[in-house]
Amino acid sequence: MPTATRVFNFSAGPAVLPVPVLEEAQRDLIALPGVGMSVMEISHRSKPFEDLLHKAQDDIRALARVPANYKILMLQGGASLQFSMVPMNLLGAGATADYIDSGSWADKAIKEARKVGKVNVAATTKADNYSRLPTTAELKLTPGVAYVHMTSNNTIEGTEWKSLPQVGDAPLVSDTSSDMFSGPIDVARHALIYAGAQKNLGPSGTVLVIVRKDFAATGKSGLPTMLSYGPHIEQGSRLNTPPTFGIYLMGQVFKWILGQGGLAAIAKKNEAKAKLLYDAIDASGGYYKGVARPDSRSLMNVTFRLPSEDLEKQFVKEGEDKNLDGLKGHRSVGGIRASIYNAISLEDVQKLVGFMEEFAKKNR
Ligand code: PMP
Repeated sequence: MPTATRVFNFSAGPAVLPVPVLEEAQRDLIALPGVGMSVMEISHRSKPFEDLLHKAQDDIRALARVPANYKILMLQGGASLQFSMVPMNLLGAGATADYIDSGSWADKAIKEARKVGKVNVAATTKADNYSRLPTTAELKLTPGVAYVHMTSNNTIEGTEWKSLPQVGDAPLVSDTSSDMFSGPIDVARHALIYAGAQKNLGPSGTVLVIVRKDFAATGKSGLPTMLSYGPHIEQGSRLNTPPTFGIYLMGQVFKWILGQGGLAAIAKKNEAKAKLLYDAIDASGGYYKGVARPDSRSLMNVTFRLPSEDLEKQFVKEGEDKNLDGLKGHRSVGGIRASIYNAISLEDVQKLVGFMEEFAKKNR
């Protein structure tokens, strides 16, 4: 394959980024216009970096209509560090946090929170292999809880909340790593939102945190500075040298999303893409079987099985031969997973569906 040929990248993350973003980044890599150096070579205290950090934050505010009483942070350590930072800051001694156990990443968040304080698993669908989301009736919330933690999209199993769970007055904390900015998000109904960048937002290692100021202010004092939300807020995401390239690239992605018409327009495209793929699964006469229950299906990560593991291996291999990459399911669950994040087009999904129809016909 010539090096300049891009594959169809259905990987779950790090994942495909929009080509116009990569092209602009490529140009900017030698010299940012008017600066004469790349973003990786300038001081994070310099005016050009400050401008692009603020522009990225302004674009997030515009995209997601972030209310003025929320702070936007771009930090390091990925989403996984937030598994620890959230309880370290916000789960006080004697308090309880409710966690909704809807998938493998939610389970990891629970394990980290338990190292810090008292956790109540408010609902779990583990017994169903996380193939569905809990119902409102299943949620057993703790009165006076410190916060309720949810995972808006379960990347490994391929399930996604269609609307937010009803948690009353409890502060809602959401890990939105794999569906952030795939559609509108009601920031005001959350106390804290975090998302690892490497799916819809940018390069790995950077995490976007949107937190309500008064909620962050309740955070514990005396924590190591880098693990404490307060100092990050006070220093405007520049407590130490931030992930400058990650912030730059996220800014480019936000600009691209705005150019696509914003989150409502992106959501329409994502719905059409997912429908095409799920329709192909459902129309295959049982050859392809969706993993997630239809009412819990994710628009981002489409998980399905073939009649045998051997056929799944063959499917992945033949897909790769046709430049359809990243289709192997997560190692913990097997099967096939097609991740169709914002930068995947309807045409890319059509290409995959064409391959699926051809494969099923040949190997039935
Ligand atoms: N939460 C979810 C929902 C994820 O999908 C992932 C990564 N796939 C993580 C957390 C962990 O992200 P990171 O690797 O950035 O720590």
